[in-house]
Amino acid sequence: MFRRRAALVAVGDELLRGIGREENCRYAAEKLTALGWEIAGMEIIADDVKAIVNACHRWIGSVELLVFSGGLGPTHDDKTRNALATFLEAELLPTPLFDEVIKRYEGDLERKSRVEELRFSQGAIPASAEAIFNPLGTALGICFDHSGTRVLSLPGVPWEFRAMADETFSSLEKGATVSTKIRVVGMGETVLASRISPLLADSSLAVSILPSPEGVTVVLRGEEAAVLSGEKTMRHLLPCDCLPPGVSTLEEALVRAAEARGVTFATAESCTGGLVASRITDVPGCSAVFKGGVVCYADDMKMRLLEVSEAILREDGAVSERCVLAMAEGARTVCKGDMAVAVTGIAGPSGGSPRKPVGTVWIGIADEKGSEATLHRLFGDRFFVRARTTALALEWLWRRVKEK
Ligand code: ATP
Ligand code: MG
Repeated sequence: MFRRRAALVAVGDELLRGIGREENCRYAAEKLTALGWEIAGMEIIADDVKAIVNACHRWIGSVELLVFSGGLGPTHDDKTRNALATFLEAELLPTPLFDEVIKRYEGDLERKSRVEELRFSQGAIPASAEAIFNPLGTALGICFDHSGTRVLSLPGVPWEFRAMADETFSSLEKGATVSTKIRVVGMGETVLASRISPLLADSSLAVSILPSPEGVTVVLRGEEAAVLSGEKTMRHLLPCDCLPPGVSTLEEALVRAAEARGVTFATAESCTGGLVASRITDVPGCSAVFKGGVVCYADDMKMRLLEVSEAILREDGAVSERCVLAMAEGARTVCKGDMAVAVTGIAGPSGGSPRKPVGTVWIGIADEKGSEATLHRLFGDRFFVRARTTALALEWLWRRVKEK
């Protein structure tokens, strides 16, 4: 199979100014990668004829596919159509395919006459190019081959771009590169890199190590045989820490593990405000194993709903080992589950003290044998502390369920 390389260019002044978030190149990159293509470059450029023509010169002839997003609108600031005509030294001519767009407005004469006026803007393409039908809007796409590069120009409106990209990419030849993602939990990127060092030394594989509050994602890319054997080696090197094949989230790993063992569980959350339960309920079919969750932020709620004793809260406070153990036991009892996980901590930015600084988090687990707690000291803002706490709770529960 051939090596296939693509370049992706988003056209839009607003994207350059940070007003809109670039979504289309990212979408195209994901789709093309899944088809075995390599992405040679991704750029954002201005709504400017010269900038677009320069991008044509930069990429045409050196990649097999060049995709432009945006700049096909009917207004003065939409320049892609003119730029491509300039590059091709071709006239812009109205295409009969635009009749198909106009037909859509048969029942609305006023709208139809407005769309009819777009025939010489959105309905026109460079004479030597082909038009691509837009099933969701009025801007036609443009396609041509030049110096061994197929050039696709699609509208910037994300849902139009996605629909037209899906359609046009489906006829592309597949590339030779495949990739696989493996999610690893329980270690940071440095430890992970040293544990999988044989893979990093393998020249037939490109390995990316991508950390997040959730854990680390390892992406292996290369020819199919190399990727398959790389994944096997990695699962052999880290037998307990990789999420199972085909599972990309901790919550899914947890639900599948609980289903397989017939274990039910519940949650009790303070600083995460229900994030743990919310993540579990993202998984279809979780009702077979997830009994429910209690969110109790205030001390009196912890006492009333989870039967945490007043003495624990007075003597040790809500962020303490005794409190998290009582919360886990209380949740297990009230939800009548086999197990429960509880979290309580200080997410910040305020509420910390020298003894319990922001980022102090207790996680507890209760099952039929008793309860256990771990202390974590996290560094980061409120968003990070809550995200990391949620991941740690899901991870620990997943590991404990696997032991059943
Ligand atoms: P079209 O080619 O469909 O006319 P355009 O770029 O010419 O697209 P604009 O009016 O500039 O049209 O943009 C339409 C909407 O699509 C805007 O909200 C814009 O921010 C959004 N958009 C354009 N390009 C992108 C992109 N690459 N990623 C995400 N949103 C985008
Ligand atoms: Mg635009």
